Amino acid sequence: MHRLPPAFTAELRNIVGDGNFREGEAVASIDYGVTPENLGAGAVVLPATTGEVAAVVKCCLAHGVPIVTHGGRTGLVGGGMSKPGEVVLSTARLNRIHHILPVERVAVVEAGVTLQALQVAAAQHRLETGIDLPSRGSATIGGMASTNAGGISAFRFGVMRHRILGMEAVLADGSIYSDLTRVVKNAAGYDLKHLFIGAEGTLGVITRLAVKLEPQPLATATALFGLASVDAALETVRRGLDAEYGHLRAAEAIWSRYFHLTSRHHRWSATDFAADHPVNLLMTLGGAEESALQSELGRIYEAVAAVHPDASAVIAFSGAQEADLWRLREDTDLIYRNHPGAPSYDVSVPLSQVASYLERCLADLKAIDGTLDPYVFGHLADGNLHIVLNKAGTDIPLEKASALDQAVYGTLSETGGSFSAEHGIGLKRVSSLSRLSDPSKLVLMRRIKELLDAPALLNPGKVLRAGP
Ligand SMILES: Cc1cc2nc3c(=O)[nH]c(=O)nc-3n(C[C@H](O)[C@H](O)[C@H](O)COP(=O)(O)OP(=O)(O)OC[C@H]3O[C@@H](n4cnc5c(N)ncnc54)[C@H](O)[C@@H]3O)c2cc1C
Repeated sequence: MHRLPPAFTAELRNIVGDGNFREGEAVASIDYGVTPENLGAGAVVLPATTGEVAAVVKCCLAHGVPIVTHGGRTGLVGGGMSKPGEVVLSTARLNRIHHILPVERVAVVEAGVTLQALQVAAAQHRLETGIDLPSRGSATIGGMASTNAGGISAFRFGVMRHRILGMEAVLADGSIYSDLTRVVKNAAGYDLKHLFIGAEGTLGVITRLAVKLEPQPLATATALFGLASVDAALETVRRGLDAEYGHLRAAEAIWSRYFHLTSRHHRWSATDFAADHPVNLLMTLGGAEESALQSELGRIYEAVAAVHPDASAVIAFSGAQEADLWRLREDTDLIYRNHPGAPSYDVSVPLSQVASYLERCLADLKAIDGTLDPYVFGHLADGNLHIVLNKAGTDIPLEKASALDQAVYGTLSETGGSFSAEHGIGLKRVSSLSRLSDPSKLVLMRRIKELLDAPALLNPGKVLRAGP
């Protein structure tokens, strides 16, 4: 087993306290999250303050030991993967919520606070985070900023980039960049926090954030619509956006293959809801009164059914029924239990192009391998589609991988979409970024990396290929 130099680890222990540096066997008890390779370094340091983070970074710089920062380890693109010779810097102890300021609708939090912890704390003031992800129990605000996470309500409240007002981060030389501004309007020169948002730990270690909050509605109501086409689903979304009562909070599409998987597994069915619609749409409205929201969902269904008589719908009339419907969308783990390591894609497509993009993409995948019948679901109001192949990772021969990428990514930039909507680049999409990006963008990204982290101390090899 690779051990880090004893002088280095002694210094780390001195900074964070003996029990807050773990190596070898002591790492085995830590949850590795999405992939075991996250803890490949076999060494984890857990600083508790910004000062300790800065001291850890300076120590790593002095000893030439690269740092891989970890939040909740829920990242889906290998951004947290680490290897022997590196050290994982976990933000688990940076978990304080400093303030929730109800008048300002702002929270100031440390980077390791989980989304759920902030949601619970904000709810006490009838506020919400304006961003929600199925991984809420583990994903941290720092990790979400680092991946520019999107999630369920991005169409309404924006992605992380739009939620963050101020930031503190430790730079690769151990100095501290501090701009914990708490106001939306801030035109004071270059807005540098945006460099760290979406940088996946390659430009700095985010330690604290000022996050915008939103008023929490008094009630919500959810319905599942079964529809014949993407166009019918988009029309239903538009009717949700135009709701006469309440506002649209979520519009999640579940294509039939994934719907069959989750509904069968959870033994979900409802009278008058046909199980074989090509597209299913989960829609949640928020507002003042639950029964009025349920009636509004009923009105939306009637309007949709007038044009699409084959549509069906079920409205949840209790919290338990609402949770049952959401499980049909959120239990993505079922796919990976059936197909370990299944290749997955996270694309966004302009709404007017979703139907034609998907038709072409699925046909091209089938042409490569007739047994491919992917699971498709996603945040439809944003045109964000998750496409997961019905194959274990090991069942995809290397020579087919680039043809599959071409089938999914081929026409995206022409349509004005993005090959990486909300999960980031990490390690998994480094070659796609270099293949699909404008060359001048890559040159600028390298210059920024060189400026902020010349020794390549921070998460080397992620986002951009290591080396010249
Ligand atoms: C079931 C499931 C559902 C998901 N659904 C969604 C979804 O709907 N939308 C979405 O956008 N994502 C989703 N994700 C992906 C994931 O939750 C997000 O990428 C999340 O933002 C990662 O947060 P984390 O704290 O787990 O970060 P980690 O996984 O620990 O790290 C992710 C990246 O950020 C870096 N990083 C972490 N913390 C810091 C920090 N403080 N400073 C600098 N760099 C840091 C890491 O080095 C790594 O590159 C889902 C994941 C799962 C498992």
